[in-house]
Amino acid sequence: MNEITLEWQEAGKIRKVVIGDRQVSKNPGTVRLGRDPVKADIVLTHPTVSGLHVEIFFNQNCQCFQVRNLRQSNPPLVDGKNLIQGEMVLSQGSTICLGQTEIKVVAVSLAGSSVPPTILMPPNSGNSGNQIYGLKCPKCDRISPFEQLDLGCPWCGTSLAAASSVLITPNTL
Ligand SMILES: [Zn+2]
Repeated sequence: MNEITLEWQEAGKIRKVVIGDRQVSKNPGTVRLGRDPVKADIVLTHPTVSGLHVEIFFNQNCQCFQVRNLRQSNPPLVDGKNLIQGEMVLSQGSTICLGQTEIKVVAVSLAGSSVPPTILMPPNSGNSGNQIYGLKCPKCDRISPFEQLDLGCPWCGTSLAAASSVLITPNTL
């Protein structure tokens, strides 16, 4: 599940919403922000916000959340840049200004990033108890067990002869 968390101030209060990539919305596939409660999924009340202002969606190609302008005459400011056409990628720390309302992206959680990272250990760390080595594919960067050395990468078929060995913990395989 991919999620993006937005936060902004409204009438002195902090509002926070979490948008998921499979969020139920009025326009399937995107979540729309604006002042009009009939058209917008997330309603902002400040008068400088357009009725239907921007939409946020998860782009499967880049595996990232993006924002798109829906109001030519009142473009949002995304990370300080006017977004008139096209899309911009939202990452943690991004800001979207709709009129005078500044929305902060406080968190982006991607399903892919929940895979435990491979831990690279310095040599001779003296902590070899339950650690084993794996082979890092030079093409797709996935880690295979050492037994794959003669067979090639199980994901992309690339020869692992040139793969670098990385220290892994047993439960990451
Ligand atoms: Zn590979």
